[in-house]
Amino acid sequence: MREKAECEISVVAPCLNEQEVIGEFVQRVTRACEATGKTFEIIIVDDGSTDVTWSGLQELCRGNRHMSAIRLARNFGHQAALSAGLAECRGEQILLIDADLQDPPELLAEMLRLAGREQADIVYGQRRAREGVSAPLNFCYKAFYRLLGWLSGTEIPPDTGDFRLVSRRVVDVVNRMPEQNRFLRGMFSWTGFKQVPLHYDRKPRAAGTPAYTWRKLFGLAADGIMSFSVKPLRLASALAGFLAASGLVVTMWLVLGYAYFDNPPQGWTSLMVVFLFVSALQLLVLGVIGEYIGRIFVEQKGRPVFIIAERTGGGR
Ligand code: UDP
Ligand code: MG
Repeated sequence: MREKAECEISVVAPCLNEQEVIGEFVQRVTRACEATGKTFEIIIVDDGSTDVTWSGLQELCRGNRHMSAIRLARNFGHQAALSAGLAECRGEQILLIDADLQDPPELLAEMLRLAGREQADIVYGQRRAREGVSAPLNFCYKAFYRLLGWLSGTEIPPDTGDFRLVSRRVVDVVNRMPEQNRFLRGMFSWTGFKQVPLHYDRKPRAAGTPAYTWRKLFGLAADGIMSFSVKPLRLASALAGFLAASGLVVTMWLVLGYAYFDNPPQGWTSLMVVFLFVSALQLLVLGVIGEYIGRIFVEQKGRPVFIIAERTGGGR
């Protein structure tokens, strides 16, 4: 971990199979950085690409003193790849950006201005619109952010991704956080340093296909909720309280009805409904507990979040 800033701006971008866009990305980022007139470095993390992204990166690094790239030993996931870049970078201010050009690098200048004017440690991109996103997916994104806001103790701004400008001291804190389940935007929020939004329109991908499948998105959502809050467990306790109270009322009603009004025993259907409903709830709560235990299991191993297989560029 490097804690001493060696340039003014670091751009950190993870990429997985981005052979079509990586050249254009580096070009646009370089232009955006040059326009600020500050010293900069670009660090690209190849998260186990299976296409020619890595050889493309080696090519781009050749003779470019601003650029370096690291290749992870396998696909560790977007958040781990970003973490690798954060551990590697040396700038005073760090821009986190996706390599697929969905987030315009040209916003860097505005982010820098905003950070200076507001004295903010974090300027995060907040999406106004998501072009090229299907309606059901858009609904899921929205629902997730609302749910997350409600469930987590940490306030995580809605409709934000990892696209943001962050100060060195925030990155140093996040680099020291040992967790394996890395939900970076939540971890940044958790530090409590001042953060301000920059509103922008998120573009459709320049090329290639999104690596985030529905399964991965749900995984990220679960990580976001479970690693920031124990509220699901509290909800389980509340549910138990509710079921116990209603159970008591129904029991009294049945017993009194039987004792005083000679009601005949009720049928099989109602019994099955209650039985199936309550068993399903029990399994659901067990599942939630299981999610937490699984997380403890993964965390206690203390394995590295990423493994760097190769470095290139940046004078290395
Ligand atoms: N990415 C990565 N590892 C992964 C998945 C994605 O490094 O396992 C990179 C990807 O190349 C892109 C960024 O992370 O630069 C965001 O991924 P994607 O565009 O698939 O996500 P979305 O924009 O849909 O959130
Ligand atoms: Mg994308």
